[in-house]
Amino acid sequence: MSRRIVITGGGSGIGLAIAKRHLAEGARVAICDEDISLVKRASENYEIAISFCADVSDSNQMKDFHNNIIDEFGGVDVMYANAGVGGPAGPIDEIDHNEWKRCVEVNLFGAFYSASWASGIMKAQKNGCIIFTSSTSGLFGVPNRSPYVAAKWGIVGLTKSMAMELGDYGVRVNAICPGAVSGDRMKRVLSMESKASGISEDNLRRVYSEGTSMRSFVSEENVADMAQFLASDQASMITGQAMAVDGYTERTV
Ligand code: NAD
Repeated sequence: MSRRIVITGGGSGIGLAIAKRHLAEGARVAICDEDISLVKRASENYEIAISFCADVSDSNQMKDFHNNIIDEFGGVDVMYANAGVGGPAGPIDEIDHNEWKRCVEVNLFGAFYSASWASGIMKAQKNGCIIFTSSTSGLFGVPNRSPYVAAKWGIVGLTKSMAMELGDYGVRVNAICPGAVSGDRMKRVLSMESKASGISEDNLRRVYSEGTSMRSFVSEENVADMAQFLASDQASMITGQAMAVDGYTERTV
């Protein structure tokens, strides 16, 4: 039977790259995204079984998405809790409290709602795999990005605790920690960080790239390679890990 794959934030970027990989293997794929235009575009262009518009930080909307998956798939083999937002940039004493909260709600609570639901299903199945998208911001500190960093470190804590809870049920839990990924999102992040720090976007881009051993940004495909590996039988003894795909970060901003 073809594998059943669920991806939050699957309408663009890393989530869509992962969706395409699994579709190419013949898997059945369900995605959700809060942006209706991205949901429509994905369902028009790819053979995605379920394309759903939902905000990961809204547990009721996510319940509807999850119920749809059970109706259609009857279970889930791989859950990617991938959706995330960059959140605000600014000094810790000036950052807007509501924006701080929203960033943590989407990145951490959102990941928790899907992972918690998938855990129940996978425990009953006695197999499955949960993969979070954290970030190198979940491995280091980043000045002026406190809510994003706190949420992404939170995901690593969730990964390690869930791996210990679920190992007895044959369920693996890992996090991928991408470095700076080429694409629109990183352009938005650089513009925001430049305003908060006073460092030009070009200089920040250089720091991100030159601060890695490979002197490069990573691609969505690099992240999808890791995702496909972690979801495969080749990774059957890998759990509780935060796997960086970053060209090895030597220095942070
Ligand atoms: P992206 O903006 O291309 O994709 C994120 C997707 O999530 C978008 O389609 C967006 O509409 C969706 N989304 C945002 N908020 C949502 C919500 N509340 N509910 C449902 N969907 C929502 O960016 P990406 O780079 O593909 O990001 C994917 C993940 O990778 C995120 O968790 C991000 O934090 C993480 N990440 C990205 C980078 C990078 O440099 N791009 C680096 C490290 C980690």
